[in-house]
Amino acid sequence: MDYLPVFLDLRDRRVLIVGGGAVGARKAALLLEAGARLRVVAPECGAEMAELCQRSGAERLAAEFSPQHLQGVCFAIAATGCADVNRQVCTAGLAANVWVNAVDDPSASTCLMPAIIDRSPVMVAVGTGGASPTLARRVRARIEALLPQRLGELARLAGQWRPQVSAALPRLEQRQRFWEDFFDSALAQQILHGAASGDADVEAAFGELLTRGADVQGVVWLVGAGPGDPDLLTLRAQALLQQCDVVLYDRLVPEAVVARVRRDAERIFVGKEPGHHRTTQARIHELLIQHARRGRRVLRLKGGDPMVFARGGEELQALAAAGIAVQVVPGVTAALGAASAARIPLTHRGVSQAVCFVTAMGEAAAALDWRSLASPLQTVVFYMGVSQLPHIVTRLLQHGAPADRRAAVIERATLPGQRVIAARLDRIAARVAAAGMAAPALLIVGNVAQFAQTMDAAGIQAADEEQSG
Ligand code: SAH
Repeated sequence: MDYLPVFLDLRDRRVLIVGGGAVGARKAALLLEAGARLRVVAPECGAEMAELCQRSGAERLAAEFSPQHLQGVCFAIAATGCADVNRQVCTAGLAANVWVNAVDDPSASTCLMPAIIDRSPVMVAVGTGGASPTLARRVRARIEALLPQRLGELARLAGQWRPQVSAALPRLEQRQRFWEDFFDSALAQQILHGAASGDADVEAAFGELLTRGADVQGVVWLVGAGPGDPDLLTLRAQALLQQCDVVLYDRLVPEAVVARVRRDAERIFVGKEPGHHRTTQARIHELLIQHARRGRRVLRLKGGDPMVFARGGEELQALAAAGIAVQVVPGVTAALGAASAARIPLTHRGVSQAVCFVTAMGEAAAALDWRSLASPLQTVVFYMGVSQLPHIVTRLLQHGAPADRRAAVIERATLPGQRVIAARLDRIAARVAAAGMAAPALLIVGNVAQFAQTMDAAGIQAADEEQSG
């Protein structure tokens, strides 16, 4: 950064202008608007400058510049059009600790004047460090077009209401949230379109907003992000994505869904990243409670459904114990996403009368009732790490599942690059290994897997080679 932008309070401060021409007069007018008292030094003045001096009661010295003219001033503008004189002002300014701006001459300046957009009290200053005043003006024009004419009025009113808001909402988070809501409100729009501070309905509408702001409570939304494709979000999930103040999400939440979260919401990743430890469940509870207690709308976003193999129950218990309001929004769980993606009906007359969702990860696998999982006329969906696949198959075969029971593995269901492999139970592990399938993937075991189909360039095809062959 070459220059630090600051806003100067020049009310009743003495400012020197060297030069009496039209350029100097333009600067004089600007300085008068900012409340400065002017001293104008020039052998002679143009009509414009003479008129300004008279009207504002400026101190007017008909002389060549001399360093003593800097006495008692905090800021000087050299608008002489003569490089030598500008340089003299600059040098004298340096010696006297007075900031000097030479118009259109950065080399003789110790500070630069920005292009400004004035919606007082909102001011935007644009600078290019002297590189290109034309570019600065073009940037200004673009910002001008973005900012409503009455933005200043809105800011002025907000300033006027600040003490009232601080008194009603003691906590910083509450106030921040209130002001965010205020600037999004219909009232703010009305003010931008002409409603003024004295209007009775403006004051009433403000009072109402403030009352609502005072009983804002934090809340946690436990929301399912679906299996991958963002179009599979529920309408409610979509709406909450746009309303949250902070989002806590896992590794399985698809990027395309995270991208739909309100842009200025705080994002907290609580999944496991390569090389890092996973955020512990206890820490997640802590974070949820902490943020909700600050009055924030906390979105707890989980892949699939939050109540299926997602520790949603534990989070509900922790939040209930902390007395925090929770809303649960279901999502399409991976089993359903995968079944649809592979066109496998999870139940089918005469083939399967029941569906069972199982997690076979880690130690939990040993405790499962494998005999029951191996029994016929049902569909068993394994949420799993791909490396578990051979163990699952072995156990099912050991507990009585026939070798030719149908099975399918769906990798990256509903995500780009989704793959489906279907085969007899005794061959599926080898096929999946040969294809190099990786997480996330699901195993569906049951004769409904005979219906598995997959889309490729040629359209829908049977995914089960034994069936199609
Ligand atoms: N709450 C999630 C499940 C989390 S357990 C849900 O309801 O879907 C994580 C397991 O889900 C993964 O190991 C994998 O088996 C499965 N999974 C999640 N997303 C998947 C996807 N897009 N395709 C295939 N399996 C997926």
